[in-house]
This record gives sequence, C-alpha cells and structure tokens, in this order.
Amino acid sequence: MNALSPAMDVFSPSGPAPVLCDTTLRDGEQTAGVVFDLAERCAIASALDAAGVAEIELGVAAMGAAEIGAIRQIARGLVAASPLVWARARAEDIAAAHQTGVRRVHVAVPLSPCHLAGKLRVDADWARTQVRQLVSLATGMGLAVSVGAEDGSRTDPAFVAEIATIAAEAGAIRFRLADTLGVLDPFAAHDLVRRLVATQPLPIEFHAHNDLGLATANTLAAARAGASHLSVTVGGLGERAGNAALEEVAAVLAAQGRPTGVGLDRLVPLAEMVARAAGRPVPAAKPIVGPAVFSHESGIHVDGLLKDRTTYESAGLRPEVFGRAHRLVLGKHSGLAGVVHALREAGLRHDDAFARALLPMVRAEAERLKRALEPADLIRLARGLCPGAQGVAQS
Ligand SMILES: [Zn+2]
Repeated sequence: MNALSPAMDVFSPSGPAPVLCDTTLRDGEQTAGVVFDLAERCAIASALDAAGVAEIELGVAAMGAAEIGAIRQIARGLVAASPLVWARARAEDIAAAHQTGVRRVHVAVPLSPCHLAGKLRVDADWARTQVRQLVSLATGMGLAVSVGAEDGSRTDPAFVAEIATIAAEAGAIRFRLADTLGVLDPFAAHDLVRRLVATQPLPIEFHAHNDLGLATANTLAAARAGASHLSVTVGGLGERAGNAALEEVAAVLAAQGRPTGVGLDRLVPLAEMVARAAGRPVPAAKPIVGPAVFSHESGIHVDGLLKDRTTYESAGLRPEVFGRAHRLVLGKHSGLAGVVHALREAGLRHDDAFARALLPMVRAEAERLKRALEPADLIRLARGLCPGAQGVAQS
C-alpha cells in the first residue's frame, strides 16, 4: 500500500458471522463479589435479547431449586434469544438443567491434567466416559448439548480433539474450547481452533478469559480460524480479569463486514445496566462503551477532527453507530482550534485573536483545577479577559 492509498481500517472479512453466546449471567456473575438479583437478571437477559444476542447462558441449575425457578422465569421472558443452562460433568447437573425447562445445556468437562488429577482425582478415561454417557443422558431427555473443554488450552490438543469426536458421536450439537485461565495469545488461539475446525464435525465455540488482556484478541483470532460461536460477556465481566467483551467483539466483527446481528446502538445501555447491577462502574477508557472514549482534548487531534473527522476517527468506530458523539474537551493540552470551537459553542466572542489570548489561561486553569474545563469555567475566563465577551459572538 503506498502512502496515497485509502486508509484501511478493517481487513479480510470472511465467512458468515459467528454467533455470540453471552454468558454475563453465568460467567459474569461468577466474578468474585458480583451478585445480580432476579429482577436484574431478568432485565439483563431481556436487554441482551432485545439487542439481538443469539444465545444467553442463564446460570447454573445445579445450585438448587431456587436457581432452577429463577432460570425458568428468566427464560420465559426471552423472545428471540436461545437460553442455555450450564452444567458440570455430572448426571445430577443434567437432571437439574432439565428441570429448568430450558432445552439447551452446556456440559463443562475438565480436561487438563491438573484439573483431572488434581481437582477431580480422576484420569482421562473418566472424561471420555463422562462425555459419552452425559451427552447420551441429556439428549435422551430431549436436551441439545454443548460440550465444553474446561482448561482446554492447557490440555494436549490431541486429547481435546478426541473428546470433541466423542461428543459428536454421542449427539452433541457443539464443542466449546475454553481458555479457562486466559493463557493463550491470538496466534495460539488461532492454531488450536483451526485444528479443531479442520478435524471435527461439530461447530466450534471459543471461550476466552482476559487474564493477560487478550480475551477479545483471542476471540477474534478464533473467529478468524473458523469458530462459529463466541463466548462473550457485557463489559467483559467475568472471573478474575473477565471474559471477552460483547461490545468489543460485536463492534470489530461488524467493522470487518461480519455483523453478528447485535444492535451496536444497544451496547452502551447494556454496559451501563450490567455495571450498575454488578456495582462496577464502566471504566472511563473501556473501548466502545467507556464514558471517555470519544472525548478529545489535545490540540492536534481536535484541530484534525474539526477539519476532517476521519483524521482521528476510524471507519469502524464512528461514535453515532453506538449512539454516541465526539466530545471536544478543553484542558491543559488544548490548542487554538479547540478554544475557538468551545467559544463558538458557548456563544462567546470566538475570533482567533481572542482565542489566542485565552489559550494560556485555559491551560493554566486546567492545570490548577486538575481537570477539563466546564463551559462555566470558560465563560468565567472569557469574561475575565474581556468583560463583554458574552453576547458579542463574532463569526
Ligand atoms: Zn469461563
């Protein structure tokens, strides 16, 4: 690409869009210290449903009768999304899942040596047998079964593939590779998923964790490798450092020309709803949904945006797509164009000479206050410099 070629924001879209499987209500609520009440769970599920998320993992039925009732109630409120219930590799968990009335169950089977030997005190044959028997048990109850390789990223890939084959032969509908501890990088995630996609008949789901800050990157790498289903949570809420963020994965796939059906304008309200329920405010710089991610202060950026917004706005990240707008902020790093713009917006005198005189005052005031300037701050400074500044706006 030579220097005059159009800027490339996205690249290599291929194949149908993956299906997003939201697990905010299961893996998200497993975050230490996070508890959703039933009303919040119903509201989050309905919001995900209305946003166009295809599948929603509702919870863990084996937690008992109250949870079975809660899952049943949440599922009843769904209009288009498919509900799914999470189960350990135990017959009693399958039975509990069946009692919810939800017709789709995910069975998580620990596969790594430390999980099998260290956690469960069993061997690889146990995993083979459990998958065969539990998939048969669940399908016999009329359930569609997804089988998950818990800690699959720290497991011999040949064994993961063998379990996927057993799951397929027993009648499972899907196989989930879980990077339970978030140890993969995008290249390794791509390789593992591509190997499964190439050798296994089942649709492959990838389930990422964000311990190294790579959950979204790994999830997108898995999608590139052919994963047909992707686990996500709103805001990336999840165990420890969280999961892949729904909003990031949906936005990138849409930008790559593989829209998932999730309404991008629903992502901010969803993030705010989950943040409130989780008691964890949306971080200012959280991609897509953070309060500050479309704010601009530095003189060079503001000047560029005011002249041609594509200078500091990528094609896949136009704020209005997400129901948002650029916000120009006056502060320590502001330049002349930003001050002229802010003066004009405030209905104040905004000729270059006046703005140029005001600029050092703006910077000094921001430094003194240790924050961006509010419109009232600007008006105060402008009046201090020129008592008649207000109401004498000049073009
Ligand atoms: Zn997980």
